This record gives sequence, C-alpha cells and structure tokens, in this order.
Amino acid sequence: SIPLGFFAGIGRNSKNGVLIKGGNYLELLSELDTIIFDKTGTLTKGEFKVVEITGDILEITAYAENYSNHPIAEAIIKKYNKKIDINKIQKHQEIAGYGISAKIFNKSVLVGNKKLMQKYNVSIPKINKNGTIIYTAINNEFQGYIIIDDIIKTESFNTIKSLKSNNISTIMLTGDSEKVANYVSTKLSIDKYYADLLPHEKAKIFKEIKNKKNKVAFVGDGINDAPVLAMSDVGIAMGGIGSDAAIASADIVLMDDNPYKIIEAIKISKFTKNIIL
Ligand code: ADP
Ligand code: MG
Repeated sequence: SIPLGFFAGIGRNSKNGVLIKGGNYLELLSELDTIIFDKTGTLTKGEFKVVEITGDILEITAYAENYSNHPIAEAIIKKYNKKIDINKIQKHQEIAGYGISAKIFNKSVLVGNKKLMQKYNVSIPKINKNGTIIYTAINNEFQGYIIIDDIIKTESFNTIKSLKSNNISTIMLTGDSEKVANYVSTKLSIDKYYADLLPHEKAKIFKEIKNKKNKVAFVGDGINDAPVLAMSDVGIAMGGIGSDAAIASADIVLMDDNPYKIIEAIKISKFTKNIIL
C-alpha cells in the first residue's frame, strides 16, 4: 500500500506539470543512482533547422520525409515549404535509427544517416562539418547532403549539474553521430555517452547499465525509445514533443518538456518521504 503522503506529493507534482502514474514512482525518484537520457528532444530541443544543403536534393528529400514525424523530417519539410503532391510518393518506409527508404517520381530514394548509406552500399564523401548530416541517394547513388542543427535546451545545463551534486550519474544514449554526441555531452558535462545507436542497441546498453547500477531512470521523448522507457525502474517521457507510445509506456510525464522538472520532482519525493517517516 502507498502511504498517504505520496498522494500529496503527486498533487504537488501535477501542479508543477509533472504527471506521476503512482506513488511508488514518486518514492523511487529519491532512490535513483543513475539517470540515462536520450539526446534528441530530451536534452536538446529537437527542433532541427536546416543550415546547409549541398546538391539539388531538397525537393526529393522533402518528398521522402513526407510521412515521417521525426524532428529531422519536420525540419526538411519546413525548409522545402511547398505543397507535396502525394501521388508522386509511390512507396515509403521509415527505418528507425537509419532514415527513410522511398519511391518518389519512380526513383528509389534513400534519406538518412551514414549507417543507412552503408546498409545499401552507397558510397558517400567524407564530410567534416558540425551538425547532423543527412545523406540523400537516388537509385543507390549519392546525390547530396543536408546539415541540420539542433539546440541544447537551456534547462539541460542545470539539470545535469544538480544531478551531479546529488551524486546521481548521468549517461546519454543517442542514435545521432559520435561527433554530435561528443559535442552535446561535453557541453553539458555528462559522465558518459553512447552514440550511433539503433533502437535495439539502446535497449541492450540500457540493460547492461541497469545490471551494474541500483535504481535507474530513463528520460526520453519516445521517438524510437518506448522500449527503454518501459524497461527502466522509472521511465520519464517528454509530454509535449513526446510520442503517444512514449507517454503510454512512461511512469512519469513532463508536460512541458523541461528536464529540470526531474530535479523538482526528486526534491518533492525526498520531502514527501520525510513527512511520511
Ligand atoms: P536520437 O537517439 O538522437 O533521439 P533517433 O534514434 O530518433 O535519434 O534517430 C537516430 C538517427 O537516425 C538520426 O540522428 C538520423 O541520422 C537518423 N534518422 C532517423 N529518422 C530519420 C528520418 N526520418 N530522416 C532522416 N534521418 C533519420
Ligand atoms: Mg529521440
């Protein structure tokens, strides 16, 4: 049974925009030794902006991304900013952690990261630039690339700092490149990061970490990480940007996508415990 004080704690949190699906999760918050973060949409805004396009690829790339709700797709479609004639999209398939495979204007189109290009044996040039690089290939031939930038949420800095001073270790998992992951985790002083992960690899690494630690929370926006949310002692999802699947599999939902709300919830958890004891 859940002590009465936890209902007060849950109430305080919900006023604060933190939805907690049970007193046991509120209690667990004060016992965490590790928090694992997804990058995109969780520590960063997930509002990608196109900063560079090389090659005449914007139209076909936007067509390929038309049915995706990944933040990268949204940025590309926004940049294109013209009507898309869906009759010209004959086939489309989203490959989680890789990108898109589609048939547009009767051509085979691939849009995604380096791993996607390698999977289909498309040779690509070496590009030494900052930001997330999305490659476009037509009929298995490289045509150009789009560089997309994301912004670290300002609240992420204090969140990581507070966790450190509470002796909670911080780890970041991402499907994005090593270079982007290194940049973000260095800026935020995150203890450890893993990059270039496919959704199932995120789950595998999560399990390995969980075996070594005691109480582990995962914080994600849920695009590609609903399984990890479900596996964690406490699964925390972004409620604004987050996918429905994430919100459903999470134990705690941050309504306004502000990661610092975790710190406030931990404080309420500790406070609630003291009242109960
Ligand atoms: P994260 O772990 O950073 O939240 P995801 O698992 O959602 O990232 O995606 C990992 C990577 O897969 C992206 O950085 C991108 O390179 C590629 N990707 C995923 N979806 C798409 C898409 N719709 N279009 C292009 N690339 C994509
Ligand atoms: Mg994500």
